[in-house]
Amino acid sequence: MDKLIHGIAADATVRVMAAVTTETVREAVRRHQTSPTVSAALGRMLTGTLLLGSSLKEFDRLTVKIESEGAVEGIVAEAVSDGTVRGYVKNSIAELPLKENGKFDVSGIIGKGMFYVIRESGFDLGLHREPYVGTVPITSGEIAEDFAYYLAKSEQIPSAVMLGVLLQPEDPYVTCAGGVMIQMLPTANENVAVMIEDTILHAPQLTTAIKEGATPEDLLKMTLGIIDYEILGEKDVRFECNCSFDRAVQLISSLGHAEVKSMLEEDKGAKMTCGFCNELYTLDENDLRKMLETERV
Ligand code: ZN
Repeated sequence: MDKLIHGIAADATVRVMAAVTTETVREAVRRHQTSPTVSAALGRMLTGTLLLGSSLKEFDRLTVKIESEGAVEGIVAEAVSDGTVRGYVKNSIAELPLKENGKFDVSGIIGKGMFYVIRESGFDLGLHREPYVGTVPITSGEIAEDFAYYLAKSEQIPSAVMLGVLLQPEDPYVTCAGGVMIQMLPTANENVAVMIEDTILHAPQLTTAIKEGATPEDLLKMTLGIIDYEILGEKDVRFECNCSFDRAVQLISSLGHAEVKSMLEEDKGAKMTCGFCNELYTLDENDLRKMLETERV
């Protein structure tokens, strides 16, 4: 099971989060059948969103969204407090050759665009409070740097963010994935920032460590070096969508009586695919007839 931890470091002047998200990214890639470069991009987005949402409370929802001019067009990831995350890419088969250094050209498929962070609370309770929306332009397109840029610019929190997805040609296609986020609070000492930067510079690659079995806490230690830390919470994380057959029925009935009637008479049924998780829902003639008879539409 994938895990996410969060805590504090350097006498509570630094907030820290770390996660291993291998299974989560595997499930996202399996569902959306993404190209290699898109898999890396989506995996980093899902991991970054889980890290940023590590202290979400019940009924909170965090959405991180990229809208861009590159081939990928857009990526959305949404996390809630129970550790579940879901997400999708507009063009899941966008692809570019590897960069000269052998890495995926994630910034290439993203291109210029905007990075959005949307924080909502109580939505599922029917409380339609105005969401908090923060926006910055995409500066790097490598995603980890974009999370860091967003935190610094929009929330005034200087941060270090590392997100990694390692792929291999054979099954399981996603070898491992994970990430670390370090947020410097206003009370943080400049020396601590320098020490962390230096430790990160000399640390082994994140995905190499995860591949060798590193836990989220190992990833934190790798990043913090000799700086003291305290873990405040740990939770299981996974890719999971809140769609269901009932929601599909609701959505189709919202199209109106005439539309449902024509689906019944002409198509003898209806199909609906959830954009977030690619789950296909099939409604047969009976389902549609029931909808019309019970005057749900
Ligand atoms: Zn779904």
